[in-house]
Amino acid sequence: MKAFFYFSLALVLAQQARHEDTEFYEPVPNVITPGSVLGAAPSDAIVLFDGKNLDQWVSTRDKSPARWTVANGVMTVNKAAGNIETKRSFRDFQLHIEWMIPENITGTDQARGNSGVFLASTGAGDAGYELQILDSYNNRTYVNGQAGSIYKQYIPLVNASKKPGEWQAYDVVWTAPRFNVDGSLKSPAYVTVLHNGVLIQNHVELQGETVFIGKPSYKKYDAAPIKLQAHGDPSEPISFRNIWVRELP
Ligand code: MG
Repeated sequence: MKAFFYFSLALVLAQQARHEDTEFYEPVPNVITPGSVLGAAPSDAIVLFDGKNLDQWVSTRDKSPARWTVANGVMTVNKAAGNIETKRSFRDFQLHIEWMIPENITGTDQARGNSGVFLASTGAGDAGYELQILDSYNNRTYVNGQAGSIYKQYIPLVNASKKPGEWQAYDVVWTAPRFNVDGSLKSPAYVTVLHNGVLIQNHVELQGETVFIGKPSYKKYDAAPIKLQAHGDPSEPISFRNIWVRELP
């Protein structure tokens, strides 16, 4: 009886998922120095932020007008206001987005300029598929959670991070997953990402939606907004500028 109890206990403990279970520290991506970035919107792009207002954005929480700060041509995260997302929904697209970790950033690990671009916001909070934003210039964390990672799924091929205080860019090609009528997966999502003009994710196949604990899985959706993360860490809020998208046929 006693042996059975301990056997059961061991089984329960073994099954208890922990966030550390999906955080890896090897292999560390090589650090490289990226070139300069050009990101002006082409004529067929939908401009999501041109430095003037948040007309294209709403609060993820309640779909009310987005309440992040806009000043001097940039928008800055308002952590109290929570995540924001586009009014429009998208399926497959090319996205350009520029972001900057403030020069005076403090904190370590995941609590240093954490934000993210959810390439499809499939629900409230952090539901969806996250391309991580973080200060990874000189900041150790699990490598599948550093800047340019597909959070907890893919390590970036290299670390092309710039210093805090310098503008950085992501250029993304997103192929949305497709689902059968019954909700089962027809074809997975794929993503290609350039960080500061350098290829860091090469048409990787996603395992499902981003999760903090446990294994990713897919959940049926058709088209979805693009979402920006107001992460709850206490470090200084980051900024964005020059955001545009081109829908792909
Ligand atoms: Mg994040």
